[in-house]
Amino acid sequence: MIVEVHAGSPIRIPGACSRCPALVANRRRIVPGYGSSEARVLLVGEAPGYKGGDLTGVPFTRDRSGVRLQQVLIALALSEETDPRVERPRLHCFVTNIVRCNPPSNRTPSRTEMDNCLPYLWQELELLRPRIVVPVGGVAAQAIFPRLLGRPSPPITQAHAQVFHRDGVVIVPMRHPARSSNHELDRFVAVMRLLLPAVG
Ligand code: SF4
Repeated sequence: MIVEVHAGSPIRIPGACSRCPALVANRRRIVPGYGSSEARVLLVGEAPGYKGGDLTGVPFTRDRSGVRLQQVLIALALSEETDPRVERPRLHCFVTNIVRCNPPSNRTPSRTEMDNCLPYLWQELELLRPRIVVPVGGVAAQAIFPRLLGRPSPPITQAHAQVFHRDGVVIVPMRHPARSSNHELDRFVAVMRLLLPAVG
């Protein structure tokens, strides 16, 4: 399946993956990563939302957390849109999830489900080679830190908008936009504005 939608070379992920029976039974669709294949910034959420990506096919769109995240991307000029409700935004970054199928009742994915789906994230990381990785929410941070930083993530309330480095990759966790205050999102935007000029 081609997930790059507006520029550059395609990234392929499975079109009919059935590794997680409970998610396969619940999902409307598999929600692949979305954005520019030339992205220097990769944002990774937990899972497509029932009222968001599971409906639209695009991570972080339509539902409240999606609109708030799109507002952040617009503020950082990582989106060409001016309306955060656009459901196929023209992005200069790439957004994806730890698991690509909506869990029943929007529950947190199980460890097994995350382990089933993480190889697709590692593939995206390998293909994109982003300079900045943004785990969005505590579940994403806990899944990503051991691989990229070799240690567990601090609680997301502490890690939010902090800058972590390893091997040329910068990791800047963000508290989930559904639970972030406006002040917390503003702080994340301020930190990213300092970092982005260095990564082109
Ligand atoms: S969550 Fe990932 S691994 Fe599980 S069924 Fe969906 S695409 Fe496959």
